[in-house]
Amino acid sequence: MSAERPADCLFCKILAREVPADVLHEDEHVLAFRDIRPQAPFHALVIPKRHLATLNDFSADDAELAGRLLLTGQRLAAEHGLPGYRVAMNVNREGGQVVFHAHLHVLGGRPMKPTLG
Ligand code: AMP
Ligand code: ZN
Repeated sequence: MSAERPADCLFCKILAREVPADVLHEDEHVLAFRDIRPQAPFHALVIPKRHLATLNDFSADDAELAGRLLLTGQRLAAEHGLPGYRVAMNVNREGGQVVFHAHLHVLGGRPMKPTLG
């Protein structure tokens, strides 16, 4: 169910290039682009190319894909010379998720604030 592309998914539209984005990395499995409202000097989002609404829609079969999201964050940080950075994934409304196509936030470019929640 969640693997099908919903017609109104913003990030599926970015994947289809129907909505513009500042793309930083693309491969067979993931796309990374700059967040439109950056919360740090560097703020990117890494998304799976397959529509999965939240982290809860990943199964054990998606373990490699989950790892690819993290390793893409690592790669972006290296490419942008970030000595330290933060990766975060909001899950469901209660977790702060607004766009329901799973995405990893990658933030850096200044020291991160000590609070997460
Ligand atoms: P979340 O609250 O985890 O669902 O985060 C959604 C993120 O998507 C927010 O940080 C938004 O600023 C970002 N966002 C929303 N629309 C766009 C867009 N068109 N291009 C890039 N980032 C976007
Ligand atoms: Zn989607």
